Amino acid sequence: MALSRREALASMLAGAFLLPGTGCGAAQADPSRTLLPPTASEDFLARCIRCGRCAEVCTAGCIELHPPWAGAEAGSPFIVPRVAGCNTCTMCTQVCPSGALTPIEPEDVLDAVDMGLAYVDEGLCLSFLGRVCGVCHDACPFPGEAIVLGHHAQPQVLGACVGCGRCEERCPQIPAAIRVFRQDPGSPRWKGPA
Ligand code: SF4
Ligand code: SF4
Ligand code: SF4
Repeated sequence: MALSRREALASMLAGAFLLPGTGCGAAQADPSRTLLPPTASEDFLARCIRCGRCAEVCTAGCIELHPPWAGAEAGSPFIVPRVAGCNTCTMCTQVCPSGALTPIEPEDVLDAVDMGLAYVDEGLCLSFLGRVCGVCHDACPFPGEAIVLGHHAQPQVLGACVGCGRCEERCPQIPAAIRVFRQDPGSPRWKGPA
């Protein structure tokens, strides 16, 4: 029987919250495997009033809200890129009433958004294993700028990657051979609001 989207999300979250190498089912929270909506402020959790408007307007359906038992994150939005990546429409940024997200226009995305950075696992990537793939490149909203294909369509992620996760969502490998990890506000790569 096919999994519902929510069942699939639960399954993905189980993976998202497993730290690499912990083994034997020993799960620990790994926030780097979930993403915040674009232009999240450095004090995002303090600013977010849990209104859910970002999730309501999301054109990709990628924004989920943490459940009531999620502690400090309860009610706040998050994205699991393997379930659904952000299509960089910027709608969520424009409706956020609290300043948790800074409003931008689609043409600002490359300069203003840094949800994370995609990494390619060459041991899993079909193109590195001798089969021409390139699906991640085709799914990227900024092909040629955020990701390029080399010999046999082997992907290389560039610094312009905004961490939208569309490549991770579409990668045909299981588990995904390209995965997005969240960047910490305050890190040298952070391009969001101060
Ligand atoms: S930019 Fe658009 S697609 Fe991306 S999370 Fe916001 S509303 Fe959803
Ligand atoms: S719209 Fe802004 S304040 Fe409302 S839940 Fe989303 S991030 Fe939080
Ligand atoms: S490489 Fe992946 S995460 Fe980066 S911008 Fe392209 S689709 Fe988004």
